[in-house]
Order: sequence, then C-alpha cells, then structure tokens
Amino acid sequence: MKFENSLTFARQLDEKDELGKYRFRFYLPNENGKELIYFLGNSLGLQPRTAQSYIKHALDQWAQYGVEGFMKGKLPWLNYHDLLIKPLSKIVGAFPHEVVVMNQLTVNLHLMMASFYQPSAKRKKIIYESKAFPSDQYMLETHIRHHGLNPEEVLVEVSPRTGEHLIIQEDILSAIEKNKDDLALVLWGGVNYYTGQVFDMQTITRAAQTAGAKVGFDLAHAAGNVLLQLHDWNVDFACWCSYKYLNSGPGAVGGAFVHERYHHDNTLNRLAGWWGYDKDTRFQMKKGFKPVLTAEGWQLSTPSPILYAAHRASLEIFEEAGLKPIHNKRKMLNDYLWYILDVCNAQAGEKMIEILTPGQENERGCQVSMLMLKKGKRIFDQLSANGIFADWREPDVIRIAPVPLYNTFTEVWTFGDTLQKILSLQQ
Ligand SMILES: *Cc1c(COP(=O)(O)O)cnc(C)c1O
Repeated sequence: MKFENSLTFARQLDEKDELGKYRFRFYLPNENGKELIYFLGNSLGLQPRTAQSYIKHALDQWAQYGVEGFMKGKLPWLNYHDLLIKPLSKIVGAFPHEVVVMNQLTVNLHLMMASFYQPSAKRKKIIYESKAFPSDQYMLETHIRHHGLNPEEVLVEVSPRTGEHLIIQEDILSAIEKNKDDLALVLWGGVNYYTGQVFDMQTITRAAQTAGAKVGFDLAHAAGNVLLQLHDWNVDFACWCSYKYLNSGPGAVGGAFVHERYHHDNTLNRLAGWWGYDKDTRFQMKKGFKPVLTAEGWQLSTPSPILYAAHRASLEIFEEAGLKPIHNKRKMLNDYLWYILDVCNAQAGEKMIEILTPGQENERGCQVSMLMLKKGKRIFDQLSANGIFADWREPDVIRIAPVPLYNTFTEVWTFGDTLQKILSLQQ
C-alpha cells in the first residue's frame, strides 16, 4: 500500500479498520480528560473494560459460596481453566491440551527446565541469545548451578556480530552445529525484548532437534504479538507472560506449552504438585504422583480465579476480533510506523534515528526499537511531555509498540508529527 504522511490519510485508514471498535473495549490512559497515546502494549497491555466485572464475579462467588465456589455458581473455578485454553491455544498455535495457564513466566521457565534440561555427562550445553532478558539469564545461571554445574562451562551465548545489533540466523544455526555433540538444550526468545527482532522459531527448532537437543522458547514478547505455530513447528516447550501483549494485568497468570508427545512420557523429570494430579482421583489424596495427561500435568498449585478472570477478559477480545484480522492490522500499523519514521529521518536533514528492529516483514512484530543518534533522552522526555507513552532503555534506545487491538493509525501519525517537531528543535 502507498502511504501518505497526513492526518487525513491516517484517519481514512482508521475508518476502514475493521478492528477499530475494539479500542473501546479497553480503558485508555488519559490526563485531565485528554487521551494519551499508549505505545507500551509490549510492557503492560491496557485493561479490558470487562476485567473488573469478571474479577468481581469471582469475588462474588467467593462471598456467596466460600469454598464451594470451586463447584458452584455460573463459572465454577474448577472448570475455569478450560475457558482459557481454547482461545489461548489459538494464539500460540497449539492444541488446547498442550497449553496450561499457571504461575508466572520465570517460574514456568524453571519448571520446564526441570523437565527438559536433563544434563548428562555427554550433553549439558545450553545455547541462548546474548542480552536475553535479565530474568532469563538469572534463571539459567541458577538452574545450571542447581544441577551442580558451572554456568560458564554450560552456556553458549550467541551474539550479534561486532558492531551489529541483531543476531543473524546463520550464526544461531552454526552454533548449534558446532556444539551438536554436547548440546542439551536451545533456549531462545521468540521476539527479542530489546530490538524487537522476531526469530525463525521453526528453523531453530528443527536445527536443535536434528542436533539431538531439546528446544524451548520464551514467548514474553511473542504471545499475542506475532503468529505462532508451536505445535506444527514441533517445539518442545514454551513459556510466556500475559501482562504484555495479552493484556491480562500486572502480575497476570502466565502460561506454558508442552508438546503433546510428552504428555504420556513418564521418563521426563517433573516437579509436581497436587493441581497437576489426575483430576478424577485428585481428591482421594493418595500417595504417588499420577499426572493429568495433558499440559495441565505440569500445574502445581491451586490457581487464582481472580487472575483467571482478568486473563479471560482479554482472551475473549482476541477470540472475538480473530487472529487473522489482528495480524493483518499489526502488519499494516507497523508498516505505517516504519514509513512515518522514514519521513522523520528524511525531514530531519541529518540522520537522527537508527532503527534497530529488522526491516524484513517476517522479522518484526509490533515493536520498533529506535537507537537515538543524538539527544535521545531529551527527545524521549519531550515525547512523554506531549502525551506519548514510549519506553526508554539506557543508554540511547526508545522502544514503541503500537498494537492492533487498541492503537490507531492516527496515533502513529500524531507520534510522527510530534517527533518531527521535537527533532527540528534539536538541530
Ligand atoms: C517480560 C519478560 C520477562 C518477565 O518475567 P516475569 O517472570 O513475568 O517477571 C521474562 N523474560 C522476558 C524475555 C521478558 O520479556
């Protein structure tokens, strides 16, 4: 599509946008009645308007029935999980029985590692991306020590080449090839949180498995953002949080994928709890762990219907809007943003912004990471002062992520217009 840098043009795109109405299903941040531009769906997604009433429903059920809320009321808590995995499994490209909603991201990574990282004398190495999110790094470091191993001898970090920001696929594949004799696991991000780079998860999975290793993905920045086909890609496991693109609130309940071929595998190590126990006999409270034969077999503890409720509010919107329209709009919104940023750079006379995110369509999702070549922090502060929510990463990166469910083309245009004015004042 041929884009134009004008308010009229951006408004026309919004008028034609079939997802436009979903914006009003969320609370939009405002200051003294003025709507602000929220481009931080990659950090904390906005609140669905139904979240409060769904949470209240769980509280009412507790008030009315006490513990019997697990069995009684319109949504007995015992069955609540079933409501979530249907829409969620579509989002991650899995069968519902391959998805479990539980805990939070870092906790789930540890749990999945307990099952899928079984170092032997021969195979103990783990390949991971350099500059992985800190929590993932701490998880890896301590998990490896928990096995009595030395992280420095186990971890193989794949980095961008000198002077570059992105990791080249070829380098991931050659690291796998090079370590194939002692590789136990590849743990990779679906989308890098810093650069917004989307990785080819299918190719990484195939390479890791060909080398005889397991493969897992951290989908914190991928779930609800880019197209995922975890089952078909044959991924072993994956984990995500649901407060970013999945809009389920701060501290939301996380999720995990375990490929169905492991559900009956009793050679896998597990760290179990009663909520992963076979449902029909769970309350007989017998000795000896007998797992549910789905991804739910990895659950440990009694879940919170309050967190479920917030998650449901958001998943329902995804379900209603449909994934195809969401991905189509995500692409177009992001293309428009790239176009607008090109205009800003061209008009600034000298280059002020270097985009870190890959330009290739299949290597980017909602997020654009901008390396500010001059006066980055000042520009960022002025964007904030003009009502634009962006994210600042030291020393000089601004990240923004317009999302298809509640951002508009007009907001992208307004952002560009504001940025252009700010840049012209920096000359
Ligand atoms: C956001 C994020 C996390 C956060 O982990 P929590 O356990 O949910 O606090 C972890 N890893 C990545 C890659 C993230 O982007």
